[in-house]
Amino acid sequence: QGATPTKRICIVGAGPAGFYAAQLILKQLDNCVVDVVEKLPVPFGLVRFGVAPDHPEVKNVINTFTKTAEHPRLRYFGNIALGTDVSLRELRDRYHAVLLTYGADQDRELELENEQQGNVISARKFVAWYNGLPGAENLAPDLTGRDVTIVGQGNVAVDVARLLLSPLDALKSTDTTEYALEALSRSQVQRVHLVGRRGPLQAAFTIKELREMLKLPNVDTRWRSEDFSGIDPQLDKLQRPRKRLTELMLKSLKEQGRISGSKQFLPIFLRAPKAISPGEMEFSVTELQQEAAVPTTSTERLPSHLILRSIGYKSSCVDTGINFDNRRGRVHNIDGRILKEDASAKVDPGLYVAGWLGTGPTGVIVTTMNGAFAVAKAICDDINANALDTSSAKPGYDADGKRVVTWDGWQRINDFESAAGKAKGKPREKIVSIEEMLRVAGV
Ligand code: FAD
Repeated sequence: QGATPTKRICIVGAGPAGFYAAQLILKQLDNCVVDVVEKLPVPFGLVRFGVAPDHPEVKNVINTFTKTAEHPRLRYFGNIALGTDVSLRELRDRYHAVLLTYGADQDRELELENEQQGNVISARKFVAWYNGLPGAENLAPDLTGRDVTIVGQGNVAVDVARLLLSPLDALKSTDTTEYALEALSRSQVQRVHLVGRRGPLQAAFTIKELREMLKLPNVDTRWRSEDFSGIDPQLDKLQRPRKRLTELMLKSLKEQGRISGSKQFLPIFLRAPKAISPGEMEFSVTELQQEAAVPTTSTERLPSHLILRSIGYKSSCVDTGINFDNRRGRVHNIDGRILKEDASAKVDPGLYVAGWLGTGPTGVIVTTMNGAFAVAKAICDDINANALDTSSAKPGYDADGKRVVTWDGWQRINDFESAAGKAKGKPREKIVSIEEMLRVAGV
């Protein structure tokens, strides 16, 4: 009997998009093998290196990913990076379909003079530092000043503000890296400014994150009442989530001053970054015109010993064979099908993208999950409709002597980290050095 060859699908990146796509493909396609190629020895992407350590419940998705990884038709190749260890050409030759889900590992810049100064760092690097991303451990953020200014008001910005203002005891029982806990224990930071270009009605943080800030012990949240002028009459026109968020801000504004804390959280609206100088940051006062922030000639200076830029992540092009949209910082695609590099605007058969690399760096894990499921379904549909050439057998990836961390190897790292954490009352103590990860994995 001329059995059809096993369909081989390669997924690049072991974050949420990669795991959710693998889950659906394994469920929908019987005669297939899914290989996951991950740059780091350890899996889970931003669930491990982005999600705040004091949000352990968010990390429960790891259990689902682990089940997927243990599927007999999935193989995990940790410590193999697209673009350095393996090229896209090679993967395309060795698989019937390749799905890129390698996320976003860069950040958008303010494009101001002096931005490369030591007192300006990206929130992305700061998050990577407290979460133990290999290579971020030597960031040494300067926490010796009273004032930190965070530029941007998304949930990442609020995560960072919370980490800076939380009592140390609340973090000691999380998987915050030991070196970060030590640095935070010596922190002199007392005031965190959270600055946005637009107004309270456009605030990008969500109600859950704001509630947490308002509940932080010993932290006094101070709003500027002038930022809220004219907001009350608009309340009834707002959609429900926006209305509830705005009501919470107004309630907190009314109650402010009742709680006194030695630390302050200071959300500031209608200010656009203008200039950076030692110890302070200058902002243009903005006006809203059809929800867009337009700078006026007025300015305000904020004391800013440390400035954290939190205006968004950006993907990078890791292989010359990727049709990358440099302007938008993501891969050219239509609903996850990557377009050919020529001007034809046609789909390149067998090449797909999902997650932040395809959509741009927005959305929570559930958003990423839904997108990844849709792209995975497109892959299955294309295979079932014979839109891809699956007539000949493909060999899959050959590690060829490279140091690969298998899923068993990751389990050894996981066990080691959990045991090291247990001794300190933490869920895990992350290994930060790649060499150490490889040693523990037995590679
Ligand atoms: P990633 O999670 O970035 O995964 C990409 C993977 O690809 C990584 O493992 C990476 O190592 C790997 N990779 C990179 N380059 C290569 C290469 N060249 N070759 C092979 N592999 C490569 N969502 C929530 O729902 N709740 C939260 O509390 C929350 N907090 C967040 C906090 C922060 C700071 C950030 C940045 C995001 C947060 N999110 C949260 C959003 C969530 O993390 C994303 O929606 C999700 O991680 C995106 O998944 P992804 O698979 O596209 O990318």
